[in-house]
Amino acid sequence: MIDPIRVDKNRAAPTSEMHLKAFLRRLWVPRWVLDRTWRYLRQDGLDQVESTVLWGGRRFGDEAVVMAVLYPCGPDVVFERGVVQVGPDTTAEMGRWLRGQNLRALCQVHSHPGSWTGHSPIDDAFPIASSEGFLSLVWPRFAAQPARSVGDLGVHRLEGGEWQELSFAEARTAIRVVESESLVRSHRPRGGQSDDSGQLRVDVEPHEGDDGWV
Ligand SMILES: [Zn+2]
Repeated sequence: MIDPIRVDKNRAAPTSEMHLKAFLRRLWVPRWVLDRTWRYLRQDGLDQVESTVLWGGRRFGDEAVVMAVLYPCGPDVVFERGVVQVGPDTTAEMGRWLRGQNLRALCQVHSHPGSWTGHSPIDDAFPIASSEGFLSLVWPRFAAQPARSVGDLGVHRLEGGEWQELSFAEARTAIRVVESESLVRSHRPRGGQSDDSGQLRVDVEPHEGDDGWV
């Protein structure tokens, strides 16, 4: 069975005020994180077994940014058709790795064999982490397809010690996918007249020494 990573060990017992303060309102997820996660889950899915990864990142107030994808693959990790088990050694190692990077566990992602993206009793009972606001995503059909948005996944959140499945609207608020790269070009034909300076407009005051470009 999955042994929970004990995050926020030193946090005092939650009061209702602390509960609100501690609540993670939004997780920012770079597209590369979603793509890399899909590749890990799909790789095991091709063998018809469930798989899982853990997302780590930094928290800023009631929002957090995912910055790392951890794929557990120690000898105590068991991938099977109906269940994935991460043993205590690998779980502890993931916790150590995150602490070494000054990151915290933010979200677990695992695949299911079919189209059902709910939480099984085992999913409820043995999350990788158990901190308030921790998120859990479920990828259907052994991750056969990449996710275009969170609407393709089951989204669950630990609230007051209980797992809640989020509606699509709630999931879109809780998880914001940000594109990681883009081909950028203007739509003005080559040699066309320009009305502006051609400089990129930014919505922050440039700092001394900056050239105004981002
Ligand atoms: Zn599950």
